[in-house]
Amino acid sequence: MARRSSKRPWGAAHPELDVERARGGTRSEEGPDGTWTVRSVTSQDKTYLCPGCRQEIVPGTPHVVAWQTDALLGADAALELRRHWHRSCWSRRGSRR
Ligand SMILES: [Zn+2]
Repeated sequence: MARRSSKRPWGAAHPELDVERARGGTRSEEGPDGTWTVRSVTSQDKTYLCPGCRQEIVPGTPHVVAWQTDALLGADAALELRRHWHRSCWSRRGSRR
């Protein structure tokens, strides 16, 4: 197979319990590219495009919305730029380049 799989669970350092406890709330995550605010959400009637896999996140799917906490543009601009991710895509975000 020529396709190289570079799955490295970057979020593996966080124990599942921590995620469980923070479910429904907002948490802060250190990433390779800064600090991110991550919120667990479930969309009601909107479909989002996941930047991780470019697939749609259909209504009713629990996923995360993330924005950069220490963005240079400021918190307001960062909120504008927030993105919706599949949970699995978000957790393996660190292996993206
Ligand atoms: Zn995805």
